[in-house]
Amino acid sequence: DIGIAASTDWFELAEPVLPPIAADAHKYSRGLVHALAGTMPGAIALAASAAARSGAGYVRVSTGAPIAGLPLSIVQTGDAKLSDPRIGCILVGPGLGELPHFLTLALTSRAPKVIDADAIALVGDPERLRGQDAILTPHAGEFAKLFGDLPGTKAEQALAAAAHSGAVIVFKGPDTLVAAPDGRLGFAPPAPAWLASAGTGDVLSGIIAALRARGMPAFEAACAGVWRHGRAAERAGPSMIADDLVAAL
Ligand code: AMP
Ligand code: MG
Repeated sequence: DIGIAASTDWFELAEPVLPPIAADAHKYSRGLVHALAGTMPGAIALAASAAARSGAGYVRVSTGAPIAGLPLSIVQTGDAKLSDPRIGCILVGPGLGELPHFLTLALTSRAPKVIDADAIALVGDPERLRGQDAILTPHAGEFAKLFGDLPGTKAEQALAAAAHSGAVIVFKGPDTLVAAPDGRLGFAPPAPAWLASAGTGDVLSGIIAALRARGMPAFEAACAGVWRHGRAAERAGPSMIADDLVAAL
């Protein structure tokens, strides 16, 4: 008994069909991810690398100071050019720290966005997400900070949060699920417990941002990203660290 309404369309996440790379593709048509760095550059480096390894044609990071260890193909810029109409997805949160300005900046853009980590609590009021075309990727602690202590099962909580905010909610943990505002619900197949280590969530948000930038709708991008993340962890094996997860993509 999963305790959700019979009208809810729910399923276990299956291997996704990813958008093909057109023969006449160019780097922008394959998807531009613009990530906003914060006070912990390692996290955004993991997320940006995961986005680049998930088929985005162009990954750009706005940063105040050069980030060590980023692949040379990821463009670092001091400028947060969020008005660029080519942006396919903005990624904000990994390594952000207490910088509410960057979340506010992201929310002024019309581009789709993935909001993770510290940026989730900084939203403050779920109503701010209305009309934002956002995907949120909270673990239980981050979920409670934004949505409070909602009643019901994890599935019911995620569906309520999605309906209230209008955002797609990836409610992470050993039993990750994805809820859409329209009531769709995807359950991730079991993923290895060795995902419980620093940085793996940052990798997930980067994967999802890339799939969104490549044109997958928000719910499908979130589901496909969760599936890929779990399978990459299986490949990387029990002594993996988040860096290996990027390589396993
Ligand atoms: P974060 O909480 O942001 O560090 O993200 C951790 C990632 O690892 C999320 O994708 C979780 O779903 C996943 N994860 C954490 N613990 C487990 C576990 N015990 N089993 C499977 N996946 C997990
Ligand atoms: Mg995290």
